[in-house]
Amino acid sequence: KKSEILETEDDHISQMQQGASKILVAVRARPLTKKESAINDKPLVHVLEDKVVILLDPSEDLSVPEEIFRQNRSREKQYAFDYSFSKDCNQDMVYEKTTKFLIEGVLNGFNATVFAYGATGAGKTYTMIGEFDSPGLMLKTFLEVFSRIEALSGQRDYIVKLSYLEIYNEIVRDLLNPSMETLEIREDPAKGVIVAGLNEILATSPEHVISSIRNGNRRRTSEYTEANETSSRSHAVLQIVVEHKDKASGVNAEILVGKLSLIDLAGSERASNTKNRGIRLIEGANINRSLLALGNCINALCEASEKGGKVYIPYRDSKLTRLLKDSLGGNCRTVMIACISPFVGAFEDTHNTLTYANRAKNIKTTVHRNVVNVQFHIAKYTSIINQLRNEVSEL
Ligand code: ADP
Ligand code: MG
Repeated sequence: KKSEILETEDDHISQMQQGASKILVAVRARPLTKKESAINDKPLVHVLEDKVVILLDPSEDLSVPEEIFRQNRSREKQYAFDYSFSKDCNQDMVYEKTTKFLIEGVLNGFNATVFAYGATGAGKTYTMIGEFDSPGLMLKTFLEVFSRIEALSGQRDYIVKLSYLEIYNEIVRDLLNPSMETLEIREDPAKGVIVAGLNEILATSPEHVISSIRNGNRRRTSEYTEANETSSRSHAVLQIVVEHKDKASGVNAEILVGKLSLIDLAGSERASNTKNRGIRLIEGANINRSLLALGNCINALCEASEKGGKVYIPYRDSKLTRLLKDSLGGNCRTVMIACISPFVGAFEDTHNTLTYANRAKNIKTTVHRNVVNVQFHIAKYTSIINQLRNEVSEL
C-alpha cells in the first residue's frame, strides 16, 4: 500500500493516469508583509523539506530569539502534505508542482481543477493571478497550453476556449461579459454541468488571454472589509477547454475535450472576524454557505473514498459545489492549494486552513477520458426526447 505522501512527481503522474487518484494537496506559506513585520517579525509557519508545515503556538513567548524559540516545540502543530511551499518558493516552483503536470492530461481529454483556498490575505490571488512581474498559475497555464499546441498543430486541429465567471452572494456572473447578467447553472445530460449563457471566447494568443483575464478581474466584485483592504469576496472560476481532432479525420471524428478549471476562492475566514454589517453580513453568510458546502462535500467525498460505497454528496447545497460537481470528486484530477499567512495575528485562520487541507488529503477521484463525437450527442438527445415523449403519452 502506498504511503499517504507520494514521494515524487512521477508517482502522481502515474497514479493520475490510472484512473483513480487522491486529490493533490499543497500548502503555500507567504512571506510576512512589511506592515506585519513591523508589528511582529517572528513567523508562526515553518516549512521543512517541501512537505511538512510546522505551525507554532502564538501563546508561547515570541520575544525570545528564534533559535531558542524553535527548541521549545512542545506546543507546535505539524502537518504533512504532498507539497509544502515555503515563503521562498516562487511562482515557477508552485506552477511546476501543482499545475504543469495536469496539462498533459487536459490535452488528452481529461478534466482537472486547481483551487486556491485560504483566508483573505493569505495569498490566493497572488498564486492564481499573480502580479505584473510575477504572473500566477492562470497565465503560466495558458502559455504552456499554447506552446504545446503549437508543437502538435501539424497533425491535429485545436480549439482553445476560455470562460471566466464569479460567484458572489450565491449569484453567478460572467466576468467576460460587460452586461454581467445573473446566470443559471444547469445540468445537461450529455455535457454535464453547464452555466447557461456563459461566454466562451476563443483563445487565440497569450496576449489575447491576458487582456481577457485582466478585463475580467476588473469586473470582479471586491469590496472593502476590515479584514483586508484588497479583499475579494467572490469566488472566481477560470475555465480552459481544449478540443482537438485528427486533421485527417472526417465528419465522424473523435473529438477529445479536456477542461481545466482554475479557481480563486473567496476568503475562508469566518464572517465574525470581519465585523460585517448589513449587506456585508448577508454576503458573509453566503460565502460561508458556498465554502461550508465545499467543506461538507469534501467530508462526504472522504467518507465515500474510505467506505468505497455510495455516500450522498451534497453538491446541490451551493452554487460553488454545483459548479464543481464534475470537477471535485467526479471525473477530475483535483489539486488544492491551501494558502496560509505566517503572521501571529492570522494564527486562527492558518490553523483552520491547515485542518481543512489535512482533511482534503483523503479524497479520491476517478478520471476518465472525454471523447465525444457528434453522433454520440445526437443519439443521447434522441433517446432523452423519446423517453420524454413516452412519459407524456402515459399521462
Ligand atoms: P488573498 O487573495 O488570499 O486575499 P493576496 O493574494 O491578495 O491574498 O495576498 C495578500 C498580500 O500578500 C498581497 O499584497 C500579495 O502581494 C502578498 N503575497 C501573497 N503571497 C505572496 C507570496 N508568495 N510572495 C510574496 N507576496 C505575496
Ligand atoms: Mg484575493
